[in-house]
Amino acid sequence: MARVRPLQGQRAPPSSVREQIMSRPNENAVEVKALSVRPPWSEWIADGIKQVENRTWQPPNNWRGTLAIHAGKTLDWDGFWFGSRLGHCLDDTEVARGEFIAVVNLVAVHRAGAVHCGEQCREWGAPDCWHWMLADARRIVSIEWRGRLGLFAPPIDVIEQVTALAAAARPGRRRRDR
Ligand SMILES: [Zn+2]
Repeated sequence: MARVRPLQGQRAPPSSVREQIMSRPNENAVEVKALSVRPPWSEWIADGIKQVENRTWQPPNNWRGTLAIHAGKTLDWDGFWFGSRLGHCLDDTEVARGEFIAVVNLVAVHRAGAVHCGEQCREWGAPDCWHWMLADARRIVSIEWRGRLGLFAPPIDVIEQVTALAAAARPGRRRRDR
């Protein structure tokens, strides 16, 4: 049974408790990194509508994998206008802020340009940026948290949810009957 609890508004446990949880061996835990994205862009990523994230930097060490999306506190007002032009209207009162909201897979990264850019890039890609290509967006039970710059380690509650989602998605891995 997946341990997905409503965590909205809940504060992080004290660090001593957290360390105990973190040190518990869990071989099934999925390695997850987190990225803070300003709303409203975060919402379209969480819904799988925007599958390109524009960054001026590449993930360190060519990192690819499971990426938790944290919606930043600060709104990007230009984003609302940009999305509405593509037919994705959002109101500033409907966007999550200061919380983890989704998980995606970072599957590829390329420099903006004709060589690698496809349909998604033409809609959402910015020039002079690295295009982080995202796939398989899934919403998670939101968890309030501070954002950070760069790729960072998400809290254990996020990792637990991602691990549960991964386990649920695994195709019937049956144990052999002796
Ligand atoms: Zn591109």
